[in-house]
Amino acid sequence: MMETDAMTEQNDSLPPCRHHESDERASPFPDRCHDHDACVAAALAAAERQCARRGARLTQARRRVLELVWRSHRPVGAYALLAALSEDGAKAAPPTVYRALDFLRAHGLVHRIERLDAFVGCPRPGEPHAGQFLLCAECGAVAELDEPAIDQAVARGAARHGFTVRRQTIEVEGVCPACAAKN
Ligand SMILES: [Zn+2]
Ligand SMILES: [Zn+2]
Ligand SMILES: [Zn+2]
Repeated sequence: MMETDAMTEQNDSLPPCRHHESDERASPFPDRCHDHDACVAAALAAAERQCARRGARLTQARRRVLELVWRSHRPVGAYALLAALSEDGAKAAPPTVYRALDFLRAHGLVHRIERLDAFVGCPRPGEPHAGQFLLCAECGAVAELDEPAIDQAVARGAARHGFTVRRQTIEVEGVCPACAAKN
């Protein structure tokens, strides 16, 4: 089973660090020892820029929900977000969370992982892209895949059937490199 609501585990439960392996290749999957504060700071800065560009307002509540989604690289469900918000001491009602998530999705700041009914932060909200995700079945980490060829193939195949694509999400389940190395 995948862990979707692991709000409290954070980086402790990520796979061990592989920074020093000689065959290290650039991977979108984070190591346990990576500087996650830097991920959060970059995500919040990107969100500020994206909202400024679009004339949208990143209110304190929206910003806080985004920050909570970014607590880890694992998808987080709305109820876990609600629980985390109430830890703040603020009285958060479910509509507050859902409205904030709607806003964040509309501006490309978070993605919904359909099969988990959970959300992950987008590391590159300014760039238009369709959802392509790699889901690790062992540690629950999710990384975005950026393969334009997939979108082109889907568009071509759909067009052949006279079908217009409005929204597409590709979710691929498997094992991330760190988990594969452990086995
Ligand atoms: Zn990180
Ligand atoms: Zn994205
Ligand atoms: Zn993994």
